[in-house]
Amino acid sequence: MRSLLGLTPAEISELIHVKESFRAKQIYHALYTGIESFDSITNIPLVLRQQLSSEYSILTSKMDTSLDDEDGNCKLRIELSDGLFTECVILSDGDGRKTICISSQVGCKMACAFCRTADMGFKRNLTSGEILEQFLIGQKIAGKLSNIVFMGMGEPFDNIENLKKAIQILNDKNAIGLGARRMTISTCGIVPGILALAQSPLEIRLAVSLNSAIEEKRRQIMPITARYPLKELKDALIQFQEDKNKRFTFEYVLIKDFNMGDEDIKALRYFTSGLSVLVNLIPWNTVEGKPFQTPDRKDINVFCSKLDKLGINYTLRRRKGFGVSGACGQLAYKAR
Ligand code: SAH
Repeated sequence: MRSLLGLTPAEISELIHVKESFRAKQIYHALYTGIESFDSITNIPLVLRQQLSSEYSILTSKMDTSLDDEDGNCKLRIELSDGLFTECVILSDGDGRKTICISSQVGCKMACAFCRTADMGFKRNLTSGEILEQFLIGQKIAGKLSNIVFMGMGEPFDNIENLKKAIQILNDKNAIGLGARRMTISTCGIVPGILALAQSPLEIRLAVSLNSAIEEKRRQIMPITARYPLKELKDALIQFQEDKNKRFTFEYVLIKDFNMGDEDIKALRYFTSGLSVLVNLIPWNTVEGKPFQTPDRKDINVFCSKLDKLGINYTLRRRKGFGVSGACGQLAYKAR
């Protein structure tokens, strides 16, 4: 059965042929309050509730498994209506706030050499409703979610229309009402997506997976570099900074003996100059069968102290979600 999630009130009105437009708005609003059945929408007439129940379901996907780790992080595997699966991760920080890491696609086309999702290949885009369902299911399981990062499976800017729609509904006070500043889109560097975000009235945060500031090296591990070279990426980021007057983040996956040498740091310094950016260092999470290694503590400390000396702003990310294979680059379901 179809769902009405992800549709605007006008689209709902057209689909279900209600005469009074406020009815569609009531339904739209109710969909995001956590209801499990249309019977709970008691402010609409009984016949309409019955019509909706016979033609639509609230959710189209269902929770398949949830794995918790000792830090209170949780990976959800969600079965979609066509039998494919998607995954999202709920991360708890020390003071009880919860962030959900949401997927935008099943699989991914970007083929980054270090990422597990890449091995799945690309299956399909998630609809705006399916993107929202991850949030709704996440809230059912974990309680209130205060932040969203679009950092799960897939490349958000490769599914931009559905993403935009989902974000509008997440942000809408008549629906979920989550502030735009509480949402972060992480991209492998799709320039038109960055420019579109720069022009958007919403104050959504941006994270760019850099991973190397050396053109050749980045191209080796992130094929998207051939399409959007570093120079173009930087121009887009300067534009973003001008339009939004806002700091953004680079993600930099630390790979032993690959992107942690002096020439890498020099290139990183050059690339970050003129940008108001925080570099988020993520020690590479092991993905079986890949020719990479995780750096040890000592390598990481040496790298960080060199960044300190150059005055490059960075944070070192804890390996959140690692215990449930929900850490960065570890999302991919095994076929059953
Ligand atoms: N396509 C988007 C979002 C998904 S990847 C993007 O590229 O940003 C989310 C983050 O995980 C990216 O920063 C990526 O560089 C990082 N990542 C991927 N595989 C990883 C791994 N095995 N270990 C650590 N980080 C990884």
